[in-house]
Amino acid sequence: MEMEKILIVDDSAVQAAQLKAILEDEYDVTAVQTAEDGLCRVRSESYSLVLLDVVMPGMDGFTLLKKLQEEIITQSIPVILITSLSDVEDERRGLILGAVDYITKPFNAVIVKARVHNHIKLYGYRRQAERQSMTDRLTGIANRRQYERRSIAKWQEAVRLQVPFSICMFDIDHFKRFNDTFGHPAGDQVISAVAKTAARYLHRHTDFVARYGGEEFVALSLGNSSEKVFAHLKKVRQAVEDLHIPHDPSVAEWVTVSIGGVTVVPPVDGSYAFYLNVADTMLYDAKKHGRNRVVWADEQMRQLLEK
Ligand code: GH3
Ligand code: MG
Ligand code: MG
Repeated sequence: MEMEKILIVDDSAVQAAQLKAILEDEYDVTAVQTAEDGLCRVRSESYSLVLLDVVMPGMDGFTLLKKLQEEIITQSIPVILITSLSDVEDERRGLILGAVDYITKPFNAVIVKARVHNHIKLYGYRRQAERQSMTDRLTGIANRRQYERRSIAKWQEAVRLQVPFSICMFDIDHFKRFNDTFGHPAGDQVISAVAKTAARYLHRHTDFVARYGGEEFVALSLGNSSEKVFAHLKKVRQAVEDLHIPHDPSVAEWVTVSIGGVTVVPPVDGSYAFYLNVADTMLYDAKKHGRNRVVWADEQMRQLLEK
């Protein structure tokens, strides 16, 4: 198992070396001597804990603590303050600012280890809970809640960069019938298989796919033209069909999905909700035209129809 990473931010190299000696058997410890370096480090690598000296020349520990709390990627990392035994006021201020704990100089190795161990363990639980609250249990892909967050962020990114943004909705065809014929547990397996297939195709870091609810999925993609996205989604649709999951023969040979969506370079006055609605309308049209097909609205709002 990989070691958890700890960052020490302390202008005193001697003090940092003492802490490092206490912790390096169990953790991957890095030490930096200024708050500025500390900030760079936490932004570029993932640490499970920061040990932070309060008194430093230049940016002090409190200022760094505030900055860490303000940034989304660093705000949940636990920070333990290093204070002198007499600095009750520093402790008070640090805890109010969001430090999880403090350790006092001179260091007691057993206490340092125990506090570090506890906070790293708690952080691990918290991250796990966070992951679970963002993941759909059945399929293992992102859930609606994560989608709500990511869709806003991705849309804003597209607005800022002025790049094509695609919203895609998938829906399993005649799924009520599938459940009625094969039962709900078999239906669950189908939802899971479809999700995994979609996720396999939408794996670039600019893609995002989530279970929107029931047997519906939503995918977002940044930076590709409608032509490209349309072509790619035809492959996804085909891949689901090629799973060859038998359907109720009275409606279809295999389980399939209908896909609808839109690609747009976000106009200044455009809203995400508007384009989500366009994607939904395209999905509705895909159903209306006979299902198992992709219907897309391109940058000029022209409709692209598969088949
Ligand atoms: P269409 O082709 O028009 O999409 O028809 P449909 O039957 O798929 O659509 P409809 O919205 O009428 O039915 C969706 C069905 O999906 C109804 C519901 O029983 C089923 N469903 C929703 N969530 C789940 C789930 O978590 N597990 C299972 N097994 N079925 C689900
Ligand atoms: Mg100092
Ligand atoms: Mg359906």
